[in-house]
Amino acid sequence: MTLDILSAEEEKLWRQIHGIKPWDYDETCSYCGKREYEILKAPETVDVMVWVWNMKCYGCNDITPVVWPVNVDLEPIFESIHFHSFENLPQKISEAYPFFKKVFKKTKNVEDFGNTCTYCGRYQGDWFVMEDYLEIAYTPESAQEQRTIKVDLTPYERLWYSGPKKVLNLHHPRKGSFASLCDDCYRLYTQKKM
Ligand SMILES: [Zn+2]
Ligand SMILES: [Zn+2]
Repeated sequence: MTLDILSAEEEKLWRQIHGIKPWDYDETCSYCGKREYEILKAPETVDVMVWVWNMKCYGCNDITPVVWPVNVDLEPIFESIHFHSFENLPQKISEAYPFFKKVFKKTKNVEDFGNTCTYCGRYQGDWFVMEDYLEIAYTPESAQEQRTIKVDLTPYERLWYSGPKKVLNLHHPRKGSFASLCDDCYRLYTQKKM
């Protein structure tokens, strides 16, 4: 597997976006100069897990399916995911579940995607769907359907969701010294070849 590593320019931007200090993740082997961490670019496509379950429509009291994203295979692990977490996600959900579509959200005064009742067509507020999800989150079997949806990340999202990966193990051979050596250089050092 080849690692997709940020260019120097991209890494600068990534540090700016997240307020990461220049000296964080910047330690290198004092002898060969290899980095302890590389900043890995997020993949082009991620798998988003969505759940579909039944909810009572607040308008007609009928039972309607609702859909919500619950997980994504991306590090760092998300505490919670919203369909706005990725720009291309709402459209992708809508293609799979047509009852998830553009509606007018009065409370926010915007047109946006949301769940609608399959009988009366009324918008089912995001907040109510999220509340309901929290109720069933610990009983996954109550979700009628669990499906993975592939979502393409935008170039900016790939940068945003980039993250440090430890690629080198550094040794600190001398007490009180800041010098650190990678495995290879440490071997040379212990064999007194440097
Ligand atoms: Zn080294
Ligand atoms: Zn309804």
